[in-house]
Amino acid sequence: MTNTTPRKTTNPRTATNLGKTIRPRKTTHKLRSGSKPTLPQLVKRADAAFSRYVRLRDAEYTGGQWVGQCISCQRKLVVIDRDGHWNPAVNAGHYISRGRKVLRWDDCNVNSQCAHCNAWQDKVKMLRDYRRNLCLKIGENAVSDLEAQAVMLHKPTRDELLEIITDAKAYVSFTLAHPTGLPSGTTGLVY
Ligand SMILES: [Zn+2]
Repeated sequence: MTNTTPRKTTNPRTATNLGKTIRPRKTTHKLRSGSKPTLPQLVKRADAAFSRYVRLRDAEYTGGQWVGQCISCQRKLVVIDRDGHWNPAVNAGHYISRGRKVLRWDDCNVNSQCAHCNAWQDKVKMLRDYRRNLCLKIGENAVSDLEAQAVMLHKPTRDELLEIITDAKAYVSFTLAHPTGLPSGTTGLVY
């Protein structure tokens, strides 16, 4: 990985810190006016928004397209092509299973991964490769920290999920609007 640091994040540990200047806003959804999305619906939306955030975070803009790399097999992947289409063969893959809600939307635990590796065709090899490359990316202590957190129980609240959705969408919108980054000398997080 040549781009191992999430852009414009003040704290890469949590999605909730992606944009300090973001104010929670009402998310749009296709439900009846006045009805609130259910918790499972919010989980689904958080998964989708966070997946896009991770795939874009781990990609570099080059030659008019976004190119990333699989955390496990290190294969280069076109994440978004020149026409703006997201490649369905690129996933956001979890090191600790996403069944562990405490790490389901954790910045360190979720990384770009090719669909083949994410399908766990060879689970032992995939996890061994994932761990080795994750150690190179975030450090062995951070990986051990993830493994220790995996046993913690956590039930996300509506507010947490809404914040994940809002922040992830803001990151994606901002990054796509500024594919080559902010002009030099620009400071601060302005989404
Ligand atoms: Zn792969």
